[in-house]
Amino acid sequence: MHKIAVLPGDGIGAEIVPVALTVLDKISQMYGYSFQYTHALVGGAAIDETGVPLPEETLALCKASDAILLGAVGGPKWDHGPAHLRPEVGALLPLRKELQLFANVRPAVLFPALADASTLKREVIEGVDILTMRELTGGIYFGKKTREDIEYGQRAVDEMAYTTAEIERIARLAFQVARTRRNKVTSVDKANVLECSRLWRETVIRLHEAEYADVELEHIYVDNAAMQLILRPASFDVIVTGNMFGDILTDQASVLTGSIGMLPSASLGGDVGMYEPAHGSAPDIAGQNKANPIATILSVGMMLKYSFGYDEAAARVEEAVRTYLDRGYRTPDIMQPGMTLVTTEEAGSLICDILEEVTE
Ligand code: NAD
Repeated sequence: MHKIAVLPGDGIGAEIVPVALTVLDKISQMYGYSFQYTHALVGGAAIDETGVPLPEETLALCKASDAILLGAVGGPKWDHGPAHLRPEVGALLPLRKELQLFANVRPAVLFPALADASTLKREVIEGVDILTMRELTGGIYFGKKTREDIEYGQRAVDEMAYTTAEIERIARLAFQVARTRRNKVTSVDKANVLECSRLWRETVIRLHEAEYADVELEHIYVDNAAMQLILRPASFDVIVTGNMFGDILTDQASVLTGSIGMLPSASLGGDVGMYEPAHGSAPDIAGQNKANPIATILSVGMMLKYSFGYDEAAARVEEAVRTYLDRGYRTPDIMQPGMTLVTTEEAGSLICDILEEVTE
């Protein structure tokens, strides 16, 4: 029995998480696995009910679970007040810190059926298969934040800090995962300007020379990385980078796959893995049954693989998504002429049907 904490959160989170659970249910029926779901409040939904974005009970549930499935948090309704009472700073950051989820694994893979769904040309994006390892519990998002009144207006400070140990542990994972793929790591920093980035680069180089010299290593500055990602995306294998750079570059990478609604993620490092789509709560389309559930469904696939070791079931989820796309089903974000437009719920039930079909 695997205990899963289910945190739908806000906006489209409440629509895509139930759909992803139907996929998990189908997998459990097909393979005889047993999953126990316990739902809890997080983000704006938790603020409305309890006054805080991460209630004690939710954190306790997460710590006592084997894995966490999170939808998304945030929305205009809660975009005011002190930072620690806002959904992202007050819920996501402490969850990551408390559970020691220092590694955010974000694959950006182009499914061949979507080669024409991106705003980029087919010949540029064909073959894209990038795995970004984003450091998730350090850097500027976790630094001290201050604000003071000065002669004219105010002065705000966000401190950015990294330690050798924090850099080593994420770089080590990146080198190890690269060995199971195309054996190349691109380390992204801003070492020409930032002291943190100089430490980042020195640490990555030292670790590489000492333990991973067989892996190809390249270093690029983050501004150049933003450019190279759309110029030569298929040449990237594993990207390792800090918290803020990873946040920005993975949103950019999502465009290579057709939509941010295609991008799953796993946050690992502690005893419990957390799985969530890379996108936010999409208030502009919330409540309309329009959201693409694939990022969340693929996140469930990552849970099967990384938390439970069910590699075959995980591969089957990916295969079902591939078949669904090959058959021309599309939510509005990836709609193309001649394809069949489906809702969030229809997408989920089609993928469940295909999952079963694949086994017959
Ligand atoms: P967003 O990712 O929510 O939306 C960006 C754009 O992508 C929107 O046009 C949206 O409609 C579209 N989109 C996102 N997911 C989609 C899906 N599954 N299917 C189809 N289209 C999709 O980013 P945003 O608009 O910058 O932020 C909205 C809220 O989400 C904010 O409150 C922000 O703080 C929060 N946020 C939360 C997380 C998280 O929970 N991990 C991450 C990013 C943003």
